[in-house]
Amino acid sequence: MNTSNFEYQLKGSAHAIYIMEKETEASNSRKPFRVIVVGGGLVGITAAHILSKANIDFVILEQHDNLTPWIGSLIVLWPATYRMLKQLGILDEMLPILNKLEDYETINANDGSFLYHTREVGKMWQRNHGYGVGCTARSEFLAVLHRTLPESAKARIRLKKRVTDIQMVSDGVVVHCADGTSEEGSIVIGADGVHSRTRQCMQALATGNQPTPQARQDAESPYISTYRVLLGNLPQMTHLTPRYQYLALGPGVSTQLVAGEGRAWWYVYEALSKPTRQRHRYTSEDKKAMMSKYAHLHVSPDYTLSDIYASNIGDIGMINLEEGSVDTWSRDGRIVLVGDAVRKLCPHAGLGYNRGAGDIVELVNRVHRVLQTSAEGLPSTEILQAEFDIYEKTRKRSEKTVDVVSRMSARSAAWLSRWDRFMGTWVIRFFPMVGWIADYLLAPVVARDPVIEWIEETELLQGAKRWVHHPLPKGR
Ligand SMILES: Cc1cc2nc3c(=O)[nH]c(=O)nc-3n(C[C@H](O)[C@H](O)[C@H](O)COP(=O)(O)OP(=O)(O)OC[C@H]3O[C@@H](n4cnc5c(N)ncnc54)[C@H](O)[C@@H]3O)c2cc1C
Repeated sequence: MNTSNFEYQLKGSAHAIYIMEKETEASNSRKPFRVIVVGGGLVGITAAHILSKANIDFVILEQHDNLTPWIGSLIVLWPATYRMLKQLGILDEMLPILNKLEDYETINANDGSFLYHTREVGKMWQRNHGYGVGCTARSEFLAVLHRTLPESAKARIRLKKRVTDIQMVSDGVVVHCADGTSEEGSIVIGADGVHSRTRQCMQALATGNQPTPQARQDAESPYISTYRVLLGNLPQMTHLTPRYQYLALGPGVSTQLVAGEGRAWWYVYEALSKPTRQRHRYTSEDKKAMMSKYAHLHVSPDYTLSDIYASNIGDIGMINLEEGSVDTWSRDGRIVLVGDAVRKLCPHAGLGYNRGAGDIVELVNRVHRVLQTSAEGLPSTEILQAEFDIYEKTRKRSEKTVDVVSRMSARSAAWLSRWDRFMGTWVIRFFPMVGWIADYLLAPVVARDPVIEWIEETELLQGAKRWVHHPLPKGR
């Protein structure tokens, strides 16, 4: 070997060693995969359970100082959500606070006169999917969701962290909060609800505009409110049948009262004079005005709104009810949205949280899968974006049906047109519409809902409509 050859080889080896050292340095400096969840609401805390079971590092940033604010509203759980809670091992803890729902009674809101019964609604769901439907106070549901989290997951929830901005960096994201702190992570999941700041940041990144605090106020919502609702809570009342839903119909205004065991939840839905995209905060004067305007309306055959007013427990709420969906659910393999941040449904059919729970299951399934197969557990942005696209496409398959059912439920109760009135008073009365919707519209959606694919199902209830998805065989 001549000297120059030797030198050349030496130089080559030194170069190779140099590259190897650099690669090792880079790989040592690469941070492990970490998820930042914006929002500690219903879907955010559900995400905490799933991410924690998946052994994926995460942090939850919640703007409020309390995870379980008292909101006078109930939450209805659907069969696929029961199945998810069972997989997470927390269904048994949830059952004591869940009230079964059985029969519905539809009446005229103006005089309380009987229109029709819809019998055995809960059993209908049970027949189809093995699990029925249940309801509970939203704050209690959140409290159990939080209580049943492992301590290590609870420690990852940061309160009083209002997210203001999201910055893309080479291998992930930096999420900035209003108090000047920031969190670094690999991806951001926006579970921050109707007015999602994550969604605004995503849009700002797409347009190149900075999401300033003023832009936050001015940002046009993708959702439109056609109705507003006044809502409250009741104790057990003599003339209310437990496990019963009363629905009172009327032109532009309807009431709904869901009676559980020992308590009830009531709502007055009113069509706004004009649909709006504007956010509106109602005052106590607005609530009083709406209460007295509709004091005469029936919430059940035996009670008017004024009858129940004195028995109301806690605050009365009043909010606009947004409806709509968002076209783009993710960006650059680093930001992805779930829950009310991507769709908002009118609450009559009680589907909003249930859809959000399905979102987070589908999304974490995909992230979990690519983490198993990527070198060093660090998937590239391209791989992540491809998974986000499939997540969006998969969830969007059922969005139209769910939206139609939710809109129809609202409009056939508080009519906006003659057609709505005809639907509410005649079609649903003489055609077994609720059963038809359950069997032919919603059953395929529920049966198709995702399952957490890496958690074995020790016990699965099945109904007439078989579950489409099952956990992956062990070892995959
Ligand atoms: C009257 C009513 C009744 C309903 N009934 C039902 C029902 O029976 N069944 C059902 O399935 N659904 C129901 N829903 C819908 C359900 O409440 C929503 O779909 C569900 O709450 C969505 O969960 P989420 O986590 O996406 O959003 P949210 O529950 O709204 O949580 C978002 C969280 O993000 C936080 N956040 C927001 N911005 C920021 C920020 N910048 N930084 C940090 N944190 C932030 C918020 O404080 C909040 O905690 C009802 C809704 C209403 C209004």
